[in-house]
Amino acid sequence: MIKKLLIANRGEIALRILRACKDLGISTVAVHSSVDRDLMHVRLADESVCVGPPDSKQSYLNSPAIISAAEITDADAIHPGFGFLSENADFAEQVVRSDFIFVGPKPETIRLMGDKVLAKNTMKEIGIEGIPGSDAPIENLNDAKKIANNVGYPVIIKAAHGGGGRGMRRVYEESELEEAISMTKNEAKLAFGNDSVFIEKFLEEPRHIEFQVLADSFNNAICLGERDCSMQRRHQKVIEEAPAVGITQEERGRISDKLINACKKIGYLGAGTFEFLYQDGEFYFIEMNTRIQVEHPVTEMITGIDIVRQQLLIASGQEMTYSQSEVQLRGHAIECRINAEDPVHFTPSPGKINSFHAPGGPGVRMDTHMYNGYVVPPNYDSMVGKLISYGNNRDAAIRRMVNALNEIVIDGIKTNVDLHKNLILDEQFQKGGLGINYLEKNIKKINNNYA
Ligand code: ADP
Repeated sequence: MIKKLLIANRGEIALRILRACKDLGISTVAVHSSVDRDLMHVRLADESVCVGPPDSKQSYLNSPAIISAAEITDADAIHPGFGFLSENADFAEQVVRSDFIFVGPKPETIRLMGDKVLAKNTMKEIGIEGIPGSDAPIENLNDAKKIANNVGYPVIIKAAHGGGGRGMRRVYEESELEEAISMTKNEAKLAFGNDSVFIEKFLEEPRHIEFQVLADSFNNAICLGERDCSMQRRHQKVIEEAPAVGITQEERGRISDKLINACKKIGYLGAGTFEFLYQDGEFYFIEMNTRIQVEHPVTEMITGIDIVRQQLLIASGQEMTYSQSEVQLRGHAIECRINAEDPVHFTPSPGKINSFHAPGGPGVRMDTHMYNGYVVPPNYDSMVGKLISYGNNRDAAIRRMVNALNEIVIDGIKTNVDLHKNLILDEQFQKGGLGINYLEKNIKKINNNYA
């Protein structure tokens, strides 16, 4: 069993990991930048090490500093959380080479799945289809034209190593193709250090549905059902829920079986998510996230399985105690990502939280690092917490979310709480099953209706 774990992350997820460690009796080491000394998990950790200045390149992305911190504190494992170094295969490799346990899959799996083209090809061989498009990075304009003509316009140019909803560009006709490819390549080079891009058919009104898996080192794999993450802005998730409205037990079972098989074939280890776009009754694989995801709590609420705890047990070399038949989906859960941002213009709103009150009661969970007097620094992602509601059915989960959003108090900074209120109360959202463009297309209406 892991004895001491270094948490290579910050904010809400660092606190979430710390809590799982405390549950399991694992000692904790927090690493933080100089602006993050007062983070809640730094206060609660057994030890803490400042790994650099606020700029994340020199702190949370500084692999040598993080590995040195593990060495000097005598930690035996490193949990990367999400974002930062979590999907960096080179970092995972350095962690393993330095004789620490990396809480996640093997470096080669991260490398394979981190390349969206390789990931799609691997899944295709296993019988899981992706969105029609290129099966190799684009080498020249002629090939690109052929592929785009084959699948039909509109198409989307995507960075093979992209993430966070960036590095994507829609193309409606052939004359736009050349410029779109070169712009996406430039952007990808700058943002991801790799300019490889590929083409996919652009789906007009799909839903984003993803499946959570867990796999251990004894070749056991289970699927914890799906989440609907279609409420997005700029390809970034805003609200997630589980299960996905309208997905039948037959569809869920069919995809789960395939994904369990995929995990075994690729030797997957730990928690992972297979993301799909769903349109006209078909699932199209888009990518795999080889880490814990922001939205994991909705799955925890409907399965009763603590996914972070499972990550730690699996990384410790233990065999999973759950079999697929023991995974029961009960009720419905919804998560609202609370961001420190202007609800109308979406500009970040860092600053001091003068007063914070977390909602509570049955079926309400608030995962956050906020507290009275906490200062949100301007240097990082604006997510300051996640509000999760659970009920016996979707209507009950919605009711509890409305009450919780009415109860929450975050004074001092601007947040998107009002946007969440308006969206949760939106008639179309309440019907369920909306596509990925709904929020962005209707954001003005949603904000004005109830503002
Ligand atoms: P990232 O790694 O940046 O999260 P993904 O490949 O997971 O990128 O895509 C993120 C989002 O972009 C999807 O949830 C969807 O909203 C949109 N998207 C991606 N591929 C397509 C496509 N072929 N057609 C339409 N929308 C897409």
